Amino acid sequence: MMDGLFERIKESVKICEASIRDLKRKQRTISWLYPTFQDRVNKIGDMGGLRLTNTDDDNWDFKVHSGTKKDTWYDCVIHFVNVKDTLKKLVMNRRLWTINKERVDLRKLASEFVETVNVQTFCSCPSDLYSGFHYIRGLPRYDAKYTNPEHRPPKKRNPRQYGAQCKHLSAVMKALPFYNTAIAKWLNQFYSKEIAEYQELAKKELGVAKAGAKELTKRMESEKKPMERPDGRPERPSSGIRRGKTHLEDEKPTETTEDLRDTLRKVWGSFNK
Ligand SMILES: [Zn+2]
Repeated sequence: MMDGLFERIKESVKICEASIRDLKRKQRTISWLYPTFQDRVNKIGDMGGLRLTNTDDDNWDFKVHSGTKKDTWYDCVIHFVNVKDTLKKLVMNRRLWTINKERVDLRKLASEFVETVNVQTFCSCPSDLYSGFHYIRGLPRYDAKYTNPEHRPPKKRNPRQYGAQCKHLSAVMKALPFYNTAIAKWLNQFYSKEIAEYQELAKKELGVAKAGAKELTKRMESEKKPMERPDGRPERPSSGIRRGKTHLEDEKPTETTEDLRDTLRKVWGSFNK
């Protein structure tokens, strides 16, 4: 019963947010509404493409050319939600550090950040509104519509509520991997202080984990030693075993060793996520 409750809580926490990865997943159903959708996205490139026009600490503004009308540009916005929380989680992940593990690798961080941070998006074109994407992204389970919510469901144009966004936003998302260097620079410009702080925190935790691992190895060795050396040869001083006493008389496998293992599992776990 508690498990069920836990699952429900987890679900309710998860549903009020959407990352670019989530929106892309929802967008996969778009061809059931518009079978030639991908061709229409590609047309944007032929007509004039898109450009990043402005960034601040939580918004990226793009101008995206219409796929059909000459000299017509739409405004697309990606609004990043809870940037610092996401950065903290990612900086603590050692996979995103440089090979020598001295610091976080900004480029690796940038590419993971852009896929996993929660976003709210907007396009000023008529389709993003009238095909129902404002409504769909505004649903509580995504909460991914930037600016005011749209409460009118697309009863006529998209009654099954396929997809998540118009072709302009799709073009922006398709282009994002090419902006990886810009994202890394942006993170450095607006969040270098936080990144440095989380990095130090990660190093500190790693220090604790390493010290714990050393201690654990020491204890395991000292617990093993007497069994391996029945001849009673002198132990190294670091083994902590007094000469002449066996393991069973001297030290029981203590709970503290188990505790230490637990702590290590937790700390290493946080690095290996
Ligand atoms: Zn649009």
